[in-house]
Amino acid sequence: MAVFCYDRPMMTSMSRRTLAIAALTLALGAAFPAAAQAKEGPSMTQPAAPTWSLAIHGGAGTMSREKMTPEKEAEYKAALAFALEAGSKVLREGGTSLDAVEAAVKVLEDDPHFNAGRGAVFTYNGVNELDAAIMDGRTRAAGAVTGITHIKHPITAARTVMEKSPHVFLSREGAEEFAREQALEMVDPDYFATPERWRQLEELKARKLGWFDVDLKYGTVGAVAVDTAGNVAAATSTGGLTGKRWGRIGDSPIIGAGTYADNRACAISATGAGEFFIREGVAHEICARMRFTGEGPQQAADTVMANVAALGGDGGVIVVTPKGEAIFSFNTPGMYRGRATSAGVKEVAVFKD
Ligand code: ASP
Repeated sequence: MAVFCYDRPMMTSMSRRTLAIAALTLALGAAFPAAAQAKEGPSMTQPAAPTWSLAIHGGAGTMSREKMTPEKEAEYKAALAFALEAGSKVLREGGTSLDAVEAAVKVLEDDPHFNAGRGAVFTYNGVNELDAAIMDGRTRAAGAVTGITHIKHPITAARTVMEKSPHVFLSREGAEEFAREQALEMVDPDYFATPERWRQLEELKARKLGWFDVDLKYGTVGAVAVDTAGNVAAATSTGGLTGKRWGRIGDSPIIGAGTYADNRACAISATGAGEFFIREGVAHEICARMRFTGEGPQQAADTVMANVAALGGDGGVIVVTPKGEAIFSFNTPGMYRGRATSAGVKEVAVFKD
């Protein structure tokens, strides 16, 4: 800008000074946008960054606008907004990120639109086997459960494993025995079943589809948050993949694959073709890149999702940092997602655009 100014011999010293001041202001604005804003705004005390942030997802996949009616899209958006509000309320009132992610995921588990809790997909043998994980970025404490069939809120079971057991990961009957001892809410397995998921299992069998989910869509749910104390947390809950067999476990309950939280970097929840996310160690890899390469959350997440794609996998992640950044990265045409911050952001979306 300064060179541009000196190149014009006809310019008066007054206009040169005006341009120089404009250039300086622009440069300062770019380097310190919050400072520039504070100068223009009504007060000098405007916060530079959100003091809390929350991001949620309800799965990723091949959602085409042609197949999705406006009514269906509105239904999904309303469901996402409801979960977003449940988590936001906790954070707005000064609660912890751990409480916020659990609250948001419980709402999504209760909602049959998503592949978690009620509305989970069926195994090949016609059972709903649920997985969940939660992690506290402050201490890196974590809890997870897999293959459970009677616990109403798998995410609460994961949190109870983290807080009330000496272990990180419990499975099947053992996890359920622990949940009963902890007086968690238990339900009949039929509670999780829906006709639409049964239809999808039948379609998978009739069309002899592979391990891939029927309509190339993943409906796992997740939430990541940072609270006003700067602590991050992550939670993920799922039924896994339609027609899964042999006690298959996906990435969602695996700490470091589908779920991870670390105050030194970020909190992550993933959705997609779990086998690839396990092989790439997606959630931990994103945090590690942020810590060791200095990449921001978007760059780190995009790089790791590109690695997943190179292996042949698809899906997406949500990421929140202790600074309050809340981002998405996915290599599918759509992802059910939403984010809210103390700075007033509140949005839900389905398609890439
Ligand atoms: N990632 C999950 C799994 O592989 C599936 C999903 O995201 O819906 O179990």
